[in-house]
Amino acid sequence: MSDILVIGSLNMDLVTVTNRMPTVGETIIGKRFDQIPGGKGANQAAAMARLNGNVTMIGRVGEDLFGKALIESLKKDGVNVNFIKEDKKLSTGIATITVDGDGNNSIIVIPGANYGVDKDDIDENINLFNKSKIVLSQLEIPIDTVEYCLKIAKENGNYTILNPAPAKVLSYNLIKNIDLLTPNETELEIISGMKINNFDDVIKASKLLIDKGVKELIVTLGSEGSLYINKDIEKKFNAYKVDAVDTTAAGDSFNGGIVVSVIEGKSMDEAIDFASKVGALTVMKEGAQSSLPYRDEIDNFKE
Ligand code: ATP
Repeated sequence: MSDILVIGSLNMDLVTVTNRMPTVGETIIGKRFDQIPGGKGANQAAAMARLNGNVTMIGRVGEDLFGKALIESLKKDGVNVNFIKEDKKLSTGIATITVDGDGNNSIIVIPGANYGVDKDDIDENINLFNKSKIVLSQLEIPIDTVEYCLKIAKENGNYTILNPAPAKVLSYNLIKNIDLLTPNETELEIISGMKINNFDDVIKASKLLIDKGVKELIVTLGSEGSLYINKDIEKKFNAYKVDAVDTTAAGDSFNGGIVVSVIEGKSMDEAIDFASKVGALTVMKEGAQSSLPYRDEIDNFKE
């Protein structure tokens, strides 16, 4: 029995740190290289497991060393990895990230096996939907699969959350099966089709999506906090004040915090406060899964 089902991506982040970026055709000696487990689906699954959530993940890796390492890492965090498949044809998803001395980065993502996640991965695991309360997905796997997944989730009575990253225009067939949508500001802009210049625009764009059928939204606003909105309520939450060193995975951990709190029967206000602590602790460390906090860190958190 698992409370939370995640359908999403797993990537190995290959991070090269260098004083400066090479120009085209140039070879330079860099400073450091790290392999850090990432991918929004895996990050969110790991975040929730570290917060004591009972999590099962559906996804795909390739038949290669990165795939094995990603599965092992999730397993170590306590995620049920029995339903992550090894794709016979596609390699494990990777992101090659180069960071220069000024902290600027350039990134190439090869989605690989993540783009192999299809309807079969859902149909083969229908029993997992019956056993779960919340289904959480993102857009790093094919959007048709996400659409099908949320349809099946609603048919099974699950509460559905979509973290729409990277942003894409959402069809009505997808929107109608989303209970909670959790974009950041840029994603909200793309999904709503409305240019956002200030906080009033965030509210207007969110309302456009509510008119289209989304039931609730939490818009994350980085160090500015977040906005909760449904057709009757709109409420702004401040972020906790911390020294941020790297914002990677803040959104992923924030989503994880919301899900774990809701599963524990907390109100949406309490869930957002909890998730804001999780997000704040995440930006205090470098990397994706390497920066995700554990439950005791949240319980002992002081601004
Ligand atoms: P990413 O794409 O980097 O994973 P995101 O853009 O999806 O992140 P953010 O809006 O940056 O998500 O962050 C999610 C939440 O984390 C925010 O709503 C906030 O509560 C918390 N947070 C993010 N950045 C900071 C910060 N600098 N200081 C404190 N809290 C932060």
